[in-house]
Amino acid sequence: MSNSKIILTGDRPTGRLHIGHYVGSLRRRVELQNSGAFDEIYIMIADAQALTDNAENPEKVRENVVEVALDYLAAGLDPAKSTLFIQSQIPELCELTFYYMDLVTVARLQRNPTVKNEIIMRNFEASIPVGFFTYPISQAADITAFKATTVPVGEDQEPMIEQAREIVRKFNFVYGDTLVEPEILLPDNEACQRLPGTDGHAKMSKSLGNCIYLADEPDVIKKKVMSMFTDPDHIRVEDPGKLEGNTVFTYLDAFCRDEHFAAYLPDYANLDELKAHYQRGGLGDVKVKKFLNNVLQETLEPIRNRRKEYQKDIAYVYEVLKKGSEAAQAKAAQTLSEVKSAMRINYFDDAELIAAQTKKYQEQ
Ligand code: ATP
Ligand code: MG
Repeated sequence: MSNSKIILTGDRPTGRLHIGHYVGSLRRRVELQNSGAFDEIYIMIADAQALTDNAENPEKVRENVVEVALDYLAAGLDPAKSTLFIQSQIPELCELTFYYMDLVTVARLQRNPTVKNEIIMRNFEASIPVGFFTYPISQAADITAFKATTVPVGEDQEPMIEQAREIVRKFNFVYGDTLVEPEILLPDNEACQRLPGTDGHAKMSKSLGNCIYLADEPDVIKKKVMSMFTDPDHIRVEDPGKLEGNTVFTYLDAFCRDEHFAAYLPDYANLDELKAHYQRGGLGDVKVKKFLNNVLQETLEPIRNRRKEYQKDIAYVYEVLKKGSEAAQAKAAQTLSEVKSAMRINYFDDAELIAAQTKKYQEQ
């Protein structure tokens, strides 16, 4: 097998992308793209996966495809270096999913902690759509179709990557070495692996309405920051404050650098000094929130401005996705053909098959 380094990752078009996506995966993808260390990079808008829990809401998925694409381009994904494509346009992914389903048990799917959690969040209980229940298998098809070696994602994706690795091992064991086992690439910084929502909820998520979006205008960002969840026991400025579960500090962990202190809060050299003061008491939430607002504004302004440029030419954005989908399909078709050969379901490509069967009956 080749030694190519290949990235596959993506997002569900269930809303615009937020700063959790940015620190959890998007920022890293752009860095990896620009590092030149990868031979191929595939970035997928997972519309088919979004439909697994939005079957009755196809317009939402349809509208958000271009929103996610705009966020990609705005964040710095470059179509000349990364293949941006739409999942549903690659039918090979469905075929792979169908064959992988034979290699996974229902009990194994039921154990997936992320899916368990999402079922509760969506109130599915006894009415889980089969497509939703099996989406980890379809995700394994997405990853392996591109022979991805590296999947940069947030922590909630860990069980999906583990499931994909198991499918690869099982497939290669049963049918012979064909698929590549992917590695997860989590953000180094713990705050970025699962950024909490502005309400202090464990995960910023489009479905929970606790997001700061990459496209939010400055006044909206400021409003969201100023009303963010902090330490409920930190009532007076003099009170000592807690950092655990304090969303404002988690966001600073994810976004702020020492240069930001020099620019906006020169009384402190770095985040450790600010944290120490907060814990001692004597530092008010408003001051910390104002600082976070400055940091976020500086980070998000160039992204928002680039987005506005791309918004002027939506036809171009669709053209990027169309070209990307064509390129992605070619790659997936190649893998599917290898998979079918390995599984011995390549009847018409195998001249020896007819010869062997012919011989068998001639000898009788
Ligand atoms: P949905 O609610 O529709 O599932 P979502 O906000 O969870 O949407 P996804 O499209 O499921 O977003 O996730 C896309 C990528 O962003 C994944 O790699 C995921 O790990 C990452 N991600 C999503 N939310 C966060 C977060 N709060 N912190 C860090 N990474 C995140
Ligand atoms: Mg999600």
